[in-house]
Amino acid sequence: MFDIRITGTDKLNPYEELIKVFLQPSEYRLNADAKAGPEADPKAGGPQESQDPAEEPAVLLEYCYDGDADAVKRQIYRDLEKHTGKSPKWGILTGIRPVKLTWELTFGQRKAESREQGTEAVLRDRYLVHPAKRQLATEIMDYQRQTAGDPGRKSLSVYLGIPFCPTRCLYCSFTSNQVGKEEIARYLQALGKEIEYAGAAAAEDGFRIESVYFGGGTPTTLDAGQLDWLLGLVEGHFDLSSCREFTVEAGRPDTITEDKLSVLRKRGVDRISINPQSMKQETLDLIGRRHTVEETEEAFRIAKAAGFQCINTDLIAGLPGEDFPDFAESLDRVIGLGADNITLHTLAVKRASRLKEMDENFNYKEELLREEMLAHASERLRREGFRPYYLYRQKHTSGSTENIGYCREDKISVYNIRIMEERQSILALGAGGISKIFFPAENRLERVANVSNYEIYIERIDEMIARKRNKFFGQTTE
Ligand code: SF4
Repeated sequence: MFDIRITGTDKLNPYEELIKVFLQPSEYRLNADAKAGPEADPKAGGPQESQDPAEEPAVLLEYCYDGDADAVKRQIYRDLEKHTGKSPKWGILTGIRPVKLTWELTFGQRKAESREQGTEAVLRDRYLVHPAKRQLATEIMDYQRQTAGDPGRKSLSVYLGIPFCPTRCLYCSFTSNQVGKEEIARYLQALGKEIEYAGAAAAEDGFRIESVYFGGGTPTTLDAGQLDWLLGLVEGHFDLSSCREFTVEAGRPDTITEDKLSVLRKRGVDRISINPQSMKQETLDLIGRRHTVEETEEAFRIAKAAGFQCINTDLIAGLPGEDFPDFAESLDRVIGLGADNITLHTLAVKRASRLKEMDENFNYKEELLREEMLAHASERLRREGFRPYYLYRQKHTSGSTENIGYCREDKISVYNIRIMEERQSILALGAGGISKIFFPAENRLERVANVSNYEIYIERIDEMIARKRNKFFGQTTE
């Protein structure tokens, strides 16, 4: 047991995120005191044994915040590294986007900080990032600059959320509902109203649409007629003349049919996702995907035949019951199917998922195995001509892992890159959509959220539109 005390602050969150990378919740107690107490020692940090005889002796770690949160985090990292033997490779970076940070230090508003030492040294000394991860972040930043370039003035991504799926996966923490056709039709009417308003307002504000992304949920839960109607509405109300990428997350292979794919192609969709997560049937059954490996293969076959320019596929490293050969086999099979993007997720079990209810400590198990899976994938994909083009770390990811997207032939997803860069406005429509308006002069994003419950979204659609009118559109973003 660790007894961790921080004086001089009452904000525990940034420190707790780091502590959780090392320790399970049952292994520590964390206390903060906004006032630095008389016993507070700014140089504290060394271990001491707890004197309470009723308890198992705890290691006491004390810190004093004096305005530099990173300094406290570095002390915590060093102490926990010593006590646990773990050395998380992303150092003290939690809740920070490593590529974005690298860009800010190299080209952005934090350039002055790295002027003398260089970005690499700041990542090493201030954030304790290990060499391989520093190199990865820099490599991805350079590749993004080469392929995606700068988002440019008044550039916009448009996201549309379809919060429905055929069944709910075991690890799901997204907005996913299992409902009948009538409910979906009701939702589409409300979404249509938001599209009509937002299309006109985006044009009036002079936004140039760079990408459109249909996500969810699973957009291909809609039937071919509904997809045609919805895509037609987008085409009719938004000026897509500058759009360089149009993605539909087909997601679940069991929702993909030839007639839906032909609607997508007809409406200008050039990128789709087919996301098996695993190519092992027992795993799919266990995690509640309710589709077969053969359905994934068939979805790839018909998508290739339909002529999509880019097919993305998602795999998850560390699914329950999977060992290294299972993961390696899934990877080989999706490469063999001809995926152009392969996005590797490490399973981060979040509060709202059924898996979290079943196994509170799932995130802490098999950390090493997940790292080995990702290392193997990197080596295997590079051999096949793939390059890493974006990465992000999730809050609930344990150890040193990250979610990382690879592509071949420069078939990046510009939408994925922009989301992580946070230097472009994102207009998000539908239940659960969180729009972000970017203010370049202040390098600041302001969030404008829709409600996530789809029934409330339908009921309060006029209010959702009013929020956009008041907070997203009509802003000075020069
Ligand atoms: S397909 Fe995605 S959104 Fe749908 S239930 Fe599974 S994890 Fe959730």
